[in-house]
Amino acid sequence: MSSSDQQLCRIAVIGGGPMGLAVAYELTRLGHRPVLIEADDRLGGMAACFEFAGIQLERYYHFHCLSDTAFFEMLGELKLADQLQWRTTRMGFYLDGRLYPWGTVGAVLGFRRLPWFTRVRYLLHAARCLTIRDWRSLDGITATQWLRSWLGEKGYQVLWHKLFAFKFFHYGDQISAAWIWSRIRRLALSRRRLKETLGFLNGGSQQLIDAFEAAIHQGGGDIQLSTPVQALRPLPSGGAVLSTPSGDQAFDCVISTVPLPLLAPVLKAGGVEESLVERYGAVPSVACACVVLKTRQPVTANFWTNVNDRRFSIPGVIEMSNLRPLPGHVSYVPFYIPADHPDYQRPNQDFIGDAWACLKALNPQLNDADLLDSHCSRYRFAQPVCGVHFQQSLPPLQPFLGVFTADTTVYYPEDRGISESIGFGRELARRATGRPTGST
Ligand SMILES: Cc1cc2nc3c(=O)[nH]c(=O)nc-3n(C[C@H](O)[C@H](O)[C@H](O)COP(=O)(O)OP(=O)(O)OC[C@H]3O[C@@H](n4cnc5c(N)ncnc54)[C@H](O)[C@@H]3O)c2cc1C
Repeated sequence: MSSSDQQLCRIAVIGGGPMGLAVAYELTRLGHRPVLIEADDRLGGMAACFEFAGIQLERYYHFHCLSDTAFFEMLGELKLADQLQWRTTRMGFYLDGRLYPWGTVGAVLGFRRLPWFTRVRYLLHAARCLTIRDWRSLDGITATQWLRSWLGEKGYQVLWHKLFAFKFFHYGDQISAAWIWSRIRRLALSRRRLKETLGFLNGGSQQLIDAFEAAIHQGGGDIQLSTPVQALRPLPSGGAVLSTPSGDQAFDCVISTVPLPLLAPVLKAGGVEESLVERYGAVPSVACACVVLKTRQPVTANFWTNVNDRRFSIPGVIEMSNLRPLPGHVSYVPFYIPADHPDYQRPNQDFIGDAWACLKALNPQLNDADLLDSHCSRYRFAQPVCGVHFQQSLPPLQPFLGVFTADTTVYYPEDRGISESIGFGRELARRATGRPTGST
């Protein structure tokens, strides 16, 4: 594309989560005036916020790690770097009715529910995760196989089984070792003097979203909220026609950042060939019903507590106010469930009841008068299921001339993350306009 073509090029970005915002932001930096189209009534996607007990809070818990470089770079450009705060955080492990310290060498070595050699192997495995450089050697084996080979059956059952069972249900045995490696590594690297150190933004993710929105508007971009794209019809000359409730609009270039399975019906409605549509619909994903509770007292001193207890179908509890100072004590309790599982149809109040029962089990001093407020948010495509050789199962990034389709799966083996979505989104904007990083 010549530079005058680039100025005239009409570009649509579908989805206003961190990736879509980063794509639109980068496009404005490159001299374009993108139109960002978002189905929800607000920006942010999985990182969107809502008002809870007088606080602007993420619908889903969010923290940042010391390795989130694309995020730091973005904060710098948006003049938000001084809003990022770091805290030394604690971890816990709730096993069969008892709360243990976790997440430090001393805590693991002192965990007498497992033989000493399993504890040592757990630490060696964490250290090994830091030395593996090439994830491709792990791409063809499952996480559960890999963890069992390091920890033995008992170690695996105590430390990992419930986490997989309650994050992935029947997909638990399919997850690739490369995916779990990248998660362990990200957290293991987020340490200062061996102590877990996690970050948060003053004002939460809403600060970032507001700054993105202002920068996109300032760069001449347009943002359309409450505008679901219902059909994407590729044009033979490149780009596509997008249908929304407001009508049809033609674009020379379309960059979609919506979860790939959500794009399947949109492509189908646009007349795209069935075999390609099926590849989008086939990317498996788990939904999340995420309960947030405000309590009069803290539940524990931990930010993150892994839970392995037959009474509770959750992988853990996240006590956000032990990371980000908030008025009152705020905890998230996520229920990850495939959307077609009957449990996902349970009413919000049932999830809230289960979440509160879990907090009371973690801290028996809590009583019902301590529960001040509660809310349950749901996201249908909250956690992609990244199986072995995952990349080979994904549809193409550029299925048509001038049409790009990305979501959080494209940066596998990294798990979904704000930093990863921002980094990938910016690079995608450059690539889509013929200006990949490194070109002039
Ligand atoms: C429970 C939970 C906890 C998390 N914790 C962390 C964390 O601690 N740290 C971290 O870095 N990340 C965390 N994440 C992940 C992080 O939120 C995501 O990686 C990030 O938000 C992904 O951004 P995205 O823009 O790629 O996708 P999304 O956020 O999924 O955005 C996609 C957007 O597309 C929109 N859309 C969908 N269909 C249409 C349509 N037809 N037309 C128009 N728009 C449409 C959606 O409404 C949405 O706004 C967490 C996520 C969840 C669910």
